Amino acid sequence: MRREIFSEEHELFRSECRRFVEAEIAPKVAGWNRDGLTDRETWRRVGAAGFLGAHAPEEYGGAGGDFLFDAIVMEELARVRAHALMVSLHSDICMPYLEVYGTPEQKQRYLPGAISGERILAIAMTEPGTGSDLANVQTRARRQGDHYVLNGAKTFISNGQIADLVIVVAKTDPDTKPPHDGISLILVEGDAPGFRRGRNLEKLGLKGQDTSELFFEDCRVPVANLLGREGQGFKMLMAQLQQERLCIAVASIASCRRSLDDTIAYVKERRAFGRPLAAFQNTQFKLAELAAEVEIGQAFVDKLLAAHVRGEDIVTEVSMAKFWTTDLQKRLSAECLQLFGGYGFMSEYPISGDYADAAVQSIYAGTNEIMKVIIARRMGLE
Ligand SMILES: Cc1cc2nc3c(=O)[nH]c(=O)nc-3n(C[C@H](O)[C@H](O)[C@H](O)COP(=O)(O)OP(=O)(O)OC[C@H]3O[C@@H](n4cnc5c(N)ncnc54)[C@H](O)[C@@H]3O)c2cc1C
Repeated sequence: MRREIFSEEHELFRSECRRFVEAEIAPKVAGWNRDGLTDRETWRRVGAAGFLGAHAPEEYGGAGGDFLFDAIVMEELARVRAHALMVSLHSDICMPYLEVYGTPEQKQRYLPGAISGERILAIAMTEPGTGSDLANVQTRARRQGDHYVLNGAKTFISNGQIADLVIVVAKTDPDTKPPHDGISLILVEGDAPGFRRGRNLEKLGLKGQDTSELFFEDCRVPVANLLGREGQGFKMLMAQLQQERLCIAVASIASCRRSLDDTIAYVKERRAFGRPLAAFQNTQFKLAELAAEVEIGQAFVDKLLAAHVRGEDIVTEVSMAKFWTTDLQKRLSAECLQLFGGYGFMSEYPISGDYADAAVQSIYAGTNEIMKVIIARRMGLE
């Protein structure tokens, strides 16, 4: 179905992005998956081509577009399974904190490098002892003169090995009631004294993504690195989560399309009992059902993209989309793998990677259970 949210300019941008991604990104995916890490040169090339922060203000080197341009980048990267290169985390999850809450000095210091790909961004909320219950973070940031001194540990941090700037969620006041009123966001540069990276964690999927432990041991950063106001961190996080979760839904539907297209091609080629797999009614019904769900999901996501660009509060609907599209992606990748038979289980067939990569989609950016908690709360069910 023709999608109605994109202008001619968006379509032109998509063509450019597709050409770039096919030429420069797709050939690198297997290597990243082998190494467990992307490379800096690629980040710089993506930046130079104008695909980092396509929405970002022109005064800092951005293209000044709307969020639909970023959504196009997400879709094109998902189309070649470049999940390792977490551009949406960098551009659409981390960068907006700097744009919305940064002081003029912070913006000047960090945004141009982020947009050019020189400075890779990460956000560190999760800790070994707490994920969903974010208000319970234990990392402390104590004010000492002109510095904050951070102590604590984070885990599962995407871009953790490669990041040059980490937005760290820390408690500046551990005694507030409610506890989330004591949370602040502190910018920690990669070479800050007392900041140490731990293991690049081994995972079921997203093999090329560096997901890491981070440690802060008397890590000193200037007070000028406070983002926004002290004690406002939790509110700032909540305000940005609509976009973070919409990114997941966009990528989920794009990944579903990739798996579906590959499966349709495979069942037309592979033969059993003297005919192509595509001739079996089971194959036809399964793929017809999945294709219908992808179209339904796309229509919903497109409606949300348009509303998000208009600046509407669609937290409830985005939470719905996050859990629904990621559950679909998990189910779809499993059903498609089944249609590949034994080959679907082999690493050389990308559908096996799709299945492994899908698993995390319902876990990060707020688990799907937390999405339902939010929806229920906003329905007045408490
Ligand atoms: C590959 C990967 C990348 C990640 N990247 C980042 C990153 O860049 N930055 C970052 O900060 N974090 C990141 N995370 C962490 C991720 O956001 C957390 O794993 C997630 O929020 C869940 O937290 P948890 O793992 O502590 O699980 P828990 O909070 O311990 O949850 C365990 C289970 O209990 C359920 N549960 C918890 N509370 C409730 C409730 N109230 N009602 C019902 N069920 C509940 C959960 O839904 C889940 O099923 C990443 C994780 C992974 C796996």
